[in-house]
Amino acid sequence: MKCGDYMKNIFDITFEDLEQYFIDNNDKKFRATQLYDFLYKKRIYNLDNMSNISNVMKEKLKKDYDFSFIKMIKKQEDVDVKKYLFELSDGNRIESVLMFHDYGISLCVSSQVGCNMGCAFCESGRLKKVRNLQTHEIVEQLLLIEEKEHIKITPIVVMGIGEPFDNYDNVMNFVRIVTSNKGIDLGCRHITISTCGVIPGIERFMNDFNQVNLAISLHAPNDKIRNEIMPISKAYKLEELMSTIKKYIAKTNRRVTFEYIMLKDINDSIDCAKELATLLKGINCYVNLIPYNETENIQFKRSKKVQILAFYDILKKNGIAVTIRREFGGNVDAACGQLRAKSY
Ligand code: SAH
Repeated sequence: MKCGDYMKNIFDITFEDLEQYFIDNNDKKFRATQLYDFLYKKRIYNLDNMSNISNVMKEKLKKDYDFSFIKMIKKQEDVDVKKYLFELSDGNRIESVLMFHDYGISLCVSSQVGCNMGCAFCESGRLKKVRNLQTHEIVEQLLLIEEKEHIKITPIVVMGIGEPFDNYDNVMNFVRIVTSNKGIDLGCRHITISTCGVIPGIERFMNDFNQVNLAISLHAPNDKIRNEIMPISKAYKLEELMSTIKKYIAKTNRRVTFEYIMLKDINDSIDCAKELATLLKGINCYVNLIPYNETENIQFKRSKKVQILAFYDILKKNGIAVTIRREFGGNVDAACGQLRAKSY
């Protein structure tokens, strides 16, 4: 199955498309259930080990689909966190981060090789986008890590390298595949997509997936500061972003998460906290304050702890639900914004 000059991988294919494939090939559509069962429930990836699929169909599947995997080439561990480096078939590299919480084991997957959003504080984005990840390259991050660690992952956050709404179709097929009740059957509510504020993506997302969580990397209470640290805000003004988010909440009835990195002397003042509280008043949301992870190549500094607490208090007093993000992975450069920093 060619897509341009790229042969489709079996882990690119949604259940519904696989059913159509079998119908188009004069076979029964329940073959899709059987194949999904092998791939995603039994985790058997070798067609030769799939007993109930005919030899003729096996040969056809081998011709039509690539069954190969990305390669896990490195793993780094710290308390409660593991980071994995993967090599793709064209030699590009991406990372995923596994975090152990008391409520489960979450996985942060990457959606692109590099990123074009250019956020000033982000190490991951210093490498410009090389290409989008194919759906299978996102699915396989999950499959390979579950297999290696003998674990079941929930939840999944699409918060690694890349802007998911700059790779909308492939990321959303990833969501369709991992939530299919014929396969991994992960609940939509256990998936969060994080965007820096790509409005057309949010618009599509609210129509396509009204149960998957949305997180917005906000990081500033006004356009002036946001323009300084996030180039995307020049394309999509805060006012427009907020009205899109209100539309999203009205349509999906879901609570939105706002991520807010605490950058010393940039966005962490008491005035910023008050302005943020006003901006978010009455919106069904919660704010996740993220202590900035410093990296050696970028000059921003983390806000002082007292400043973060003062900021937190103001939001809280103004009735905004807020948490300070627990920190993971600093020692293995697996924390937010540090991915890719030292992997070469
Ligand atoms: N492009 C998407 C997802 C990737 S970034 C987005 O912008 O949401 C994942 C999160 O990590 C974002 O909130 C991002 O702003 C944050 N982040 C980036 N660099 C960071 C750093 N050095 N310290 C803490 N968080 C960082």
